[in-house]
Amino acid sequence: HCHSYYSDGELAPEALLDLAEKRGITHLALTDHDTTAGLAALADAGVTSPVSVINGIELSCSWRGQLLHVLGLNIDPGNEALISGIKQNIERRFERAEAMHEDFEKHGINLRARVDRLLKTHSVPTRPHFAQALVDSGVVKDKRQAFKRYLVRGKPGFVAMRWPEIDEIASWILEAGGIAVLAHPLRYKFTRSKLVRLIDEMKLQGVEGMEVSTAVSNSQQTAQLTSLANQHRLLASIGSDFHALDQPWAALGNAAPLSDTLTPVWSRF
Ligand code: AMP
Ligand code: MN
Ligand code: MN
Ligand code: MN
Repeated sequence: HCHSYYSDGELAPEALLDLAEKRGITHLALTDHDTTAGLAALADAGVTSPVSVINGIELSCSWRGQLLHVLGLNIDPGNEALISGIKQNIERRFERAEAMHEDFEKHGINLRARVDRLLKTHSVPTRPHFAQALVDSGVVKDKRQAFKRYLVRGKPGFVAMRWPEIDEIASWILEAGGIAVLAHPLRYKFTRSKLVRLIDEMKLQGVEGMEVSTAVSNSQQTAQLTSLANQHRLLASIGSDFHALDQPWAALGNAAPLSDTLTPVWSRF
């Protein structure tokens, strides 16, 4: 699970593949936020690489009023149900970006030109683009500070979002022949009982897997997720969530291997 510059990643999809090859990665899921433009770019470029690309996406989703990220892995990017679903999320992203610009302007900060410059053709606007624009215009010293002082609930530039619910997101992924996987389950800071409730509910909607090993989880957290995945008979995935070269804690492919007790999601590809 990683990102290209078609969402909030730094690299072109082709550069991601080169990096994966250098790092000895055999399988790479390109999972940009709410877009498959990077998959199309790879297909159009006719790139050949020893790295197997898994067609993927990371969809923004609402559950009980909270933001979740659900991965669609091994999807058919040409599926009509998926395409029309993605179109909705992209429209919401552009509407949110406009609302964010208006809010920043109320605070005397104009980021339009800088954000536009950061967006490549067919990229979707994300909060990290605004964070980078805040850095570039000297408003904050780094992106971390941008996400502390701006862009989050209660701060300038924050726009509350309603994303589609799990059942909708899951149906797009399933229609496209993919497997739906909860991304980074501990990032939401749910209590254990709330996480179990989410797992029970998402399974009913066809979300069959979750990430068990991520770049930022320690061995205790991975053990906790391993036991949850086993108890709830979830497929298990691995995700470094790589975005950029200057984030060494989430280097491409940096995630511990899965326990032998788990069923890897790729056993179903
Ligand atoms: P968006 O989907 O446009 O709301 O942006 C969410 C993305 O912002 C996540 O996928 C992360 O890559 C990034 N992000 C969220 N919170 C932070 C943070 N505190 N610091 C740096 N990046 C963040
Ligand atoms: Mn991201
Ligand atoms: Mn995510
Ligand atoms: Mn991600």
